[in-house]
Amino acid sequence: MKCPYCGFAQDRVVDSRESKEADAIRRRRECERCQKRFTTYERIDEIPYMVVKKDGRRERFERHKVLSGLLLACRKRPFTPDNLEAIVDEAETFLIDSPERERTTSEIGELIMNRLKAIDTVAYIRFASVYRDFTDVREFKEELERLLTAKDQTAKRRTTEPPREPSHREAPTRKPQRRQP
Ligand SMILES: [Zn+2]
Repeated sequence: MKCPYCGFAQDRVVDSRESKEADAIRRRRECERCQKRFTTYERIDEIPYMVVKKDGRRERFERHKVLSGLLLACRKRPFTPDNLEAIVDEAETFLIDSPERERTTSEIGELIMNRLKAIDTVAYIRFASVYRDFTDVREFKEELERLLTAKDQTAKRRTTEPPREPSHREAPTRKPQRRQP
């Protein structure tokens, strides 16, 4: 801690105690150069965690924003509220683990997309089309094709397995849904 009198950076703590309300720790320090004493307080960290947007602007991380994006992407898809909460928790933990107290929107988006991809392709595509920075249409098409190829391979493997109950969860993604108006 820099000495307020002479600016020297080294000091020693001569006394340390908790405040009466137990919301702060008060430390009495002594500068190792000028020997003057000064006091510092340690408090619970209330500085918000920030998200850095594409244009460099910073915004406070807000769970409800992440959750509403997820709700939109996962509408009518096989997700429980607990699934979504868990994904938001993971995104928040990832941010809190950052030593700089901030992450870019694309880093957080990437994490969320990976979780969605593992559960449901439709939700993943919806989310990706909004949040992912596909530099052009071609890149988005390539990602779609990768997904479709992966699905084909899964389907081929299945035909060699003994027959089993059809999976309702996957049915809508294999063929386009047509609904009568
Ligand atoms: Zn000093």
